[in-house]
Amino acid sequence: MVDLPIPPATSASQLVQYAMCPRKYAFAYIYGFEPAFRSPALILGSATHSAIAWWFTERIDGRTPTLDQADAVLAADLLAGSAGTDVRWKDATPESLETDGRRLLRLYLSQYGDLPVVAIEAPFEVDLFDDETGECFGRPLKGYFDLTLDDHRVVEIKTSARGWSESDLVRHLQVGAYCHAWNTLHGGPSQIEVHVIVKLKREPRVEVFPVSRGESASRWWLHAAGAIERAIAGGHYPPAPGPLCGACEYESACAAWVDEEPVQPARRRLPIAHVEQALAATL
Ligand code: SF4
Repeated sequence: MVDLPIPPATSASQLVQYAMCPRKYAFAYIYGFEPAFRSPALILGSATHSAIAWWFTERIDGRTPTLDQADAVLAADLLAGSAGTDVRWKDATPESLETDGRRLLRLYLSQYGDLPVVAIEAPFEVDLFDDETGECFGRPLKGYFDLTLDDHRVVEIKTSARGWSESDLVRHLQVGAYCHAWNTLHGGPSQIEVHVIVKLKREPRVEVFPVSRGESASRWWLHAAGAIERAIAGGHYPPAPGPLCGACEYESACAAWVDEEPVQPARRRLPIAHVEQALAATL
């Protein structure tokens, strides 16, 4: 295996990606390969996040955003998210994605659009350090809190095709990362709220899960993160073949990896749309 450097910091996304498939992690974070395609669900989730962030930025800046404006921002983000890349549309279309996105966005903003948000995508960087053993895992943990409220509570927003349950949160590496960061910055127990926007066709809904986790409740996560970090530092990127391979953006590169170095398949690039232009056209 070629000895390439790992990113200087880890993140919740890196931990999740490595846990799902170490080889896929290597393609994305070590070799920097472009994914062969994007899924509509990913584009929708990213655009919904951006439109919600825009909404609260407007409010923080003293303006009063409207739902129609939020729709326009969402449409622009959806356009930007699908430009310059192949999208595996399956049953979806750009129009159906926008319709679905608008329903989800309006649902969320009508229920939570007046949250007392004081910061959007606030960056954090904390050490990954085990107080009990004195072990430092090497790379710091970097990330962003989606929404920070006026009492330091943090809201993390997810979009999902299915409802969540409490058990989904217990071993959730991303949620664990936010709890660890919050506890390091403020002292535990964490005050995180996970808002899951569930994309059910007939009846979309928003599920809210408060996550209050102290240091001892975070130990499983810390051990898991440490084990993953040691494996990454050791350059271990085995494949994890399974049902997810059929939807893997790096499947071709994975199949071609039989030598020392993986080979990225050629990829057609399309022109990237400018979000501002798209937004102006819809206003
Ligand atoms: S095809 Fe499967 S084993 Fe290969 S990188 Fe993707 S998820 Fe991992």
